[in-house]
Amino acid sequence: MTDRPTNPARPRGVEELAAAVPMPDLEPVAHPDCRVCFAADRGRTAARTQGAPQRVADFNRVITGHLHRADQGEGAER
Ligand SMILES: [Zn+2]
Repeated sequence: MTDRPTNPARPRGVEELAAAVPMPDLEPVAHPDCRVCFAADRGRTAARTQGAPQRVADFNRVITGHLHRADQGEGAER
């Protein structure tokens, strides 16, 4: 037995490491033909570059909550 409690999921020494910006596994994808989603996607990229995870999450909420018509976007009947 060691004198220090260890987390089996983390090898020794990993506690000292931390990601610069915690990232969710999946993020919403901007609609290709939507100006609102396009702007939010650019803002999200800028926020990530600036190390602002709260703003990244805000832009993710914008993209997630933005609804589109079924005929909007590439591949739609015109
Ligand atoms: Zn949109």
